[in-house]
Amino acid sequence: MTDWILRGGDVIDGSGRPRFRADIAIAGDHIAEVGAVGRSTGAREIDVSGKVVAPGFIDVHTHDDRALFATPEMAAKASQGVTTVVVGNCGISLAPLTLDDAPLPPLDLLGDAADYRYPHFADYFSNLDRNPAALNATCLVGHTTLRIGAMSALDRPAEPAEIAQMRELLQEALDAGAIGMSSGLAYAPAEHAPASEIEALAALLRPAGAIYTTHMRNEGDRVLDSLEESFAVGRTAGVPVVISHHKTIGRANFGRTAQTLPVIAAAIARQEIGLDAYPYIASSTVLSAGQAGRASKVMVTWSKRAPEQAGRDLSAIAADWGVGIDEAVERLQPAGAIYWTMDEPDVRRVLSFPHTMIGSDGLPHDFHPHPRLWGTFPRVLGHYCRDLGLFGLEEAVRRMTGLPAARFGLSGRGAVAAGAYADIAVFDPATVIDRASFEHPTTPAAGIEYVFVNGRPVWAEGKASGERPGRALRRQQLQAKAQ
Ligand SMILES: [Zn+2]
Repeated sequence: MTDWILRGGDVIDGSGRPRFRADIAIAGDHIAEVGAVGRSTGAREIDVSGKVVAPGFIDVHTHDDRALFATPEMAAKASQGVTTVVVGNCGISLAPLTLDDAPLPPLDLLGDAADYRYPHFADYFSNLDRNPAALNATCLVGHTTLRIGAMSALDRPAEPAEIAQMRELLQEALDAGAIGMSSGLAYAPAEHAPASEIEALAALLRPAGAIYTTHMRNEGDRVLDSLEESFAVGRTAGVPVVISHHKTIGRANFGRTAQTLPVIAAAIARQEIGLDAYPYIASSTVLSAGQAGRASKVMVTWSKRAPEQAGRDLSAIAADWGVGIDEAVERLQPAGAIYWTMDEPDVRRVLSFPHTMIGSDGLPHDFHPHPRLWGTFPRVLGHYCRDLGLFGLEEAVRRMTGLPAARFGLSGRGAVAAGAYADIAVFDPATVIDRASFEHPTTPAAGIEYVFVNGRPVWAEGKASGERPGRALRRQQLQAKAQ
């Protein structure tokens, strides 16, 4: 029995093929029919003529681990047409870890001590089952999270007994349904982990059919070495690798994506490699003097000791206080920041690369977040695709849907086709655009008209519906479905 009919839209199905005019019938959590759909008693009809009907977008790079519970309507993402989020990126996941004291940076990007309350990864999954969000979620285990749980000191490589404990926790997480492991080797708690430590853990991923994603050790002067280190983990462990938020940072490295992308393309010819990117020239993470020194401008996103400074320029804060930048950084800790460290031609080059998936890297726990949290997908569709013409709309949609579904093994998602899950984004191609700015970072995008998750509307007419049909997507269920 048909529940919804989306009438007369232009279907962009996520595969990259040209759009075609069709009606969509939704029955239960599935797309029942794509084509000329007759009237059906009891079905609710929406006229979507002139609009694009696309698969719901898959945000492959998120830090929504806690947001799924704290803001279950997930308006920051639903308002962009996102229907599935991949959590646990950059080495940091809420599980498996319990904390009594304030989390070390960068774990404090996800939440406070009380949010780290999952001794086993299965506990996190059951919390998701009991408290579903509006969107689907699939989970990576963070290497840094494992390290903090297993090691007595982080300023050295893990010892054999610690590696054994991390392997046990990782195996447990994979058994519970995690789809892979992430690393954040650029951050202090993981920077002393040698490649051999990562490889000892990654060895568990292949038997599980799981994936490795990495916020690389270096995205600046040594970016090529870091790419090679990442590829080597993939080859040694025999697993697919995703290079997170690919970029080259710092003035000295402007233009160097012209070197990195051919290196990535050559690696893709030999082994399974993917990458993601967000469409901005500014990055965002915890506040550090080192990062601030490489940026042309720094904006504070949150500070525990001086919360009133969130949203302000770091040099203005330092001037107000009559101190140098390093002293201001010290006085704000713990804190987060936005760093202007990239060159626009690099951003465009990475976005234009046919293997690049779109991932927001949004930080929902920040008081004054980077606008990528609310703007990433409409910015690619409206600014980079329609206004600048970097690529066609079918290609933009493929990089947000079919490509990530294949890379992360999200079977039944990322396609508008009969039998697929009814995760759908309806948008106006003429008006879709991000409206979140660095000054007003939580302004919802324009032009996203209807968003369905598992056949139920989560976003319509500019607001969240309040429905929470999202599911925890476990690896075993995804793999069973794929067979
Ligand atoms: Zn990262």
